[in-house]
Amino acid sequence: MFNLLKNKLSSFINSFSKKTEDKIEEKEKEVKEAKKEEKEEKEEKGAKEKLEVRLSLESKAKAVFLSEIEIKEKDVDDLLTDLEMSLLEADVAYDVSKSMCDELKKKLVGMRVQKHGVSETIRGVIRDVLAEKLGARRLDFIDAVEHAPRPVKILFLGPNGAGKTTTMAKLARRLGEHGMKCVFSASDTFRAAAIEQTEHHGKKLGIEVIKHKYGADPAAVAFDAINYAKAHGIDVVLIDSSGRQETNANLLDEMKKIVRVAKPDLKIFIGESIAGNAIVEQVKKFHEVLGLDGIILTKIDCDAKGGSTLSIAQTSGVPIIYIGTGQNYEDLEEFDARKIVDEILS
Ligand code: GDP
Repeated sequence: MFNLLKNKLSSFINSFSKKTEDKIEEKEKEVKEAKKEEKEEKEEKGAKEKLEVRLSLESKAKAVFLSEIEIKEKDVDDLLTDLEMSLLEADVAYDVSKSMCDELKKKLVGMRVQKHGVSETIRGVIRDVLAEKLGARRLDFIDAVEHAPRPVKILFLGPNGAGKTTTMAKLARRLGEHGMKCVFSASDTFRAAAIEQTEHHGKKLGIEVIKHKYGADPAAVAFDAINYAKAHGIDVVLIDSSGRQETNANLLDEMKKIVRVAKPDLKIFIGESIAGNAIVEQVKKFHEVLGLDGIILTKIDCDAKGGSTLSIAQTSGVPIIYIGTGQNYEDLEEFDARKIVDEILS
């Protein structure tokens, strides 16, 4: 997972370390040469005894600075331009790649680095910048659901095939583990087999499914599911929706209607991380029109690039709450920016 992003950052770290270490070595050589010349000059003047005392004091002082260098703008400019391009290849959105490199530059220029430990220093700087980009906002999903008035209504939105139905089932299982009873609203009345798929999960997890026929009004299904929950003391109504292929006007109108009717407490966008930059646009559009509370990124296990996770976290301002890491119910992990950064820099 995230191999391309990992490789690009690792080659930046290597080039930066090599360039900086070479510069430090060059500086060491220059200082040694200067000292040698100075010694010879003084020796010639015959002030040998006094000189030895001074030189030993001087070399002690210089040794402290000898293996250290201050990073200048010209040391990083080329490398950061290359990094910016590399990040684009790894699916990081242009704005995000640019702001990340700007921040790296701000942090690096003026910094003093030691010869031994250059790569650790730069790794630490990248770690901080990435963590900041990924973890800007947080939402504790379970806590939010536990504290919302009953029944809690959660609407799942996103393009077709992104994993809405599967993720809804994964979450139902998780909510069940926290003692909360769920009902499914089979409100994807558009995609072939979506209702049967929801019923399949319902049967496996012991969760009731409220459904109408294909082509029915998704908002009407959600309305019935909410009433069912009220009548049966169910804690959470999980409302599926249809995605179509594009975020077209019809789809958004349909979503607006579900939102009007169901008044969801949480609107969660489900998007596949492998969609690359397309997902950034999708989230923007849905957030603009409907206002999202959280994002779940699916298929992280198949994401060889990794940049869209970074882009989404930074551009939308909507918190990523979970990541989908496979097709089984347990393949859902809480989003942990530090863990992702460790993975990227491993
Ligand atoms: P929907 O159209 O948005 O409801 O998408 P589905 O829930 O039907 O999922 C589409 C496909 O993606 C199914 O084959 C799922 O098993 C698969 N899927 C969902 N989430 C993940 C994930 O995190 N990793 C992988 N590898 N596959 C997933």
